[in-house]
Amino acid sequence: MHRTISLPRRGALLGSLAAVAAFGSGTAPAAVPLATQQAPGFYRHRVGEIEVTALLDGNLAFPDAALPNLFRNYDAAIGTRLKTEAFNAPGGVPLAVNAFLVNTGTRLILVDAGAAAALGPNLGQIPRNLRAAGVALEDIDAIVLTHLHRDHAAGMLTAEGAALFPRAEVLVAEAEAAYWSDSGEETRAPAPLRPFFGPARAVLAAYGSRVRRIGLETEVAPGVRTLAIPGHTPGHLGVHVASGGAQFLMWGDVVHAQSLQFARPDWSISFDSDPDLAARTRSRIFDMAATDRIVVAGSHLAFPAIGHVARRSEGYGFVPAMWRSPL
Ligand SMILES: [Zn+2]
Repeated sequence: MHRTISLPRRGALLGSLAAVAAFGSGTAPAAVPLATQQAPGFYRHRVGEIEVTALLDGNLAFPDAALPNLFRNYDAAIGTRLKTEAFNAPGGVPLAVNAFLVNTGTRLILVDAGAAAALGPNLGQIPRNLRAAGVALEDIDAIVLTHLHRDHAAGMLTAEGAALFPRAEVLVAEAEAAYWSDSGEETRAPAPLRPFFGPARAVLAAYGSRVRRIGLETEVAPGVRTLAIPGHTPGHLGVHVASGGAQFLMWGDVVHAQSLQFARPDWSISFDSDPDLAARTRSRIFDMAATDRIVVAGSHLAFPAIGHVARRSEGYGFVPAMWRSPL
């Protein structure tokens, strides 16, 4: 037998609410102001004997009007359909900015540090969310920067431009540090990329001798390695965590627009230093993650940004990990 569910029309719903209010009029109303802020943005995930904590820096959106210029190969009809299928609110394609904390039991390693105030007031929540997760800035032993774009590295600095993390060693790929330090590259870079050079250099300068320029594939701690994820920037890194047979791949900026690029891996973003290479890398990593069923995490996936890649009839899809209380 079929049962149908019919939602009350708005007028009928308001009428029934008024009846409830009238019924309860003998008691004091519970006048609780509505919250304006989500619960703290941290979420823990266990990889064998290693703990990973996703940290939210905040949320942004790519405005709809900017999409044709932002994404190579963008097709308006396909883009509109993908946004509809993803239930994106009208006006833009949402993205999060996330960082990740890796706790090996003897070392605390932060992967990226968010945007601070560089990209508007909705970001810059990493220090607050670290605190909420019980971690002080001085507890961090090392920071791996996937790359030196502002949404990953501006959060390394105080508002005055000093080093925010008092003790951490900073690991950044040699190719990445060299590129953003090179005034010749700055001159040759396309105009939209030029404003990224100064802030990248400011981070390297603030940390001075605490910066360790590493190879693309470097062991950061037992079970924690960087790996080359080429295309987005000259030294773009991911971080791979392996322990007790479990794997976790934090892939940095493989995906900027979750609603679009899983289905269309060839839609590279205009900030990619090598869009063709970035597209090939995206397809290769999607294929590997789907085939090997690896848990992935991304800088710009919806928080907590941890889940699996699944094959779909149109490209790939993201299957977010379900909330787990016991770790
Ligand atoms: Zn980014």
